[in-house]
Amino acid sequence: MKLSVLSLVLGLFFISCNKDSQLSKPTVHEIKGKIFGSTYNVKYLGELTPGEFSVFLDQFFLDFNQEFSTYQSNSVINLFNSSPAFKKIKVSTRFIEMLKIIKAFNQKTMGAFDPTLGPVVKIWGFYQAEKKRPRPDELKRVRDQMGVDHLKWDESSLVAWKTKNGVRLDLNAFAPGWAADLVGEELIRRKINHFMVDIGGEILVKGSKGEHNWVVGIERPSVGGNHELHTAIKIKDLSIATSGNYRHFFLESGQRKSHIIDPRTGEPVTHQISSVTILAETALEADIWGTALMVLGEEGLNLAEQNGIMALLLKAQGPGKFQSIMTTSMSTYLKANEL
Ligand code: AMP
Ligand code: MG
Repeated sequence: MKLSVLSLVLGLFFISCNKDSQLSKPTVHEIKGKIFGSTYNVKYLGELTPGEFSVFLDQFFLDFNQEFSTYQSNSVINLFNSSPAFKKIKVSTRFIEMLKIIKAFNQKTMGAFDPTLGPVVKIWGFYQAEKKRPRPDELKRVRDQMGVDHLKWDESSLVAWKTKNGVRLDLNAFAPGWAADLVGEELIRRKINHFMVDIGGEILVKGSKGEHNWVVGIERPSVGGNHELHTAIKIKDLSIATSGNYRHFFLESGQRKSHIIDPRTGEPVTHQISSVTILAETALEADIWGTALMVLGEEGLNLAEQNGIMALLLKAQGPGKFQSIMTTSMSTYLKANEL
């Protein structure tokens, strides 16, 4: 079941640490599969059989899609999206949690993260093979259907509704990161304290891989998907996510139009920032800030600094050349943890 056809793994990949000697190599269990139109990969150390955890994962993804997949016609999110204004929909506490996440991070990112962009993403053709500029009147119509203030809920009676017809949520910017956190919480409940969970390239890491830290490679942006390495870093008890403009885009008059859209204009972002990598405590935060800083570009660095976000922006400087621009906390982290 797809949550998104857009979210192919981008930006990050796990590197096995080749300094491991045969003797010190711990048993790393691994579970892999396909989810949300992309892949997942869970690695962990400890007394839990992959067979047992796969049972949990399969059920978790079924439930998550049933609630949040816009590609599943009978999902709760589709019911919410297609319901008329003021119609109250029965939802779970997790659905209300999702609405709270949207409101809180829309505010923190000064509106750059805005999942009510759903109809705008659609009209640019990013859910289809053919991407093209919409007619100005169509764009205006769908932009009028945006705004997180139209999202309402009542926690005591577990209902949610919209205050405007046509408001539709697109969860692609944060659902994979959020799902990674939820899987991580389950591993901890099962007393597994050393793991990495990668869902669609949004990665949550806890503890270490035996004597060594987990190592993540940050990709050098490239349209062809060659997976060339920009840098590799050690991470422990942190999450990492990358957003970029180099996989899903189309060209208009020679200019790259990315699948990340600026909520202020309804236009795909076109600046020279090719990718944003975020390190944060949760994969949810990393995923959201990655998308938000792709919208804001260099302008967003102050906001990231104020929020204590570790952010690395790769700015295109000509074919295959990138300038690294980063927040102070990212610079300190990289100095200590780059391989
Ligand atoms: P990511 O790859 O995590 O940056 O998420 C990008 C996806 O989020 C896009 O494919 C759209 O479906 C959606 N999206 C695009 N722009 C925004 C935005 N400004 N705020 C929230 N979601 C967005
Ligand atoms: Mg994101």
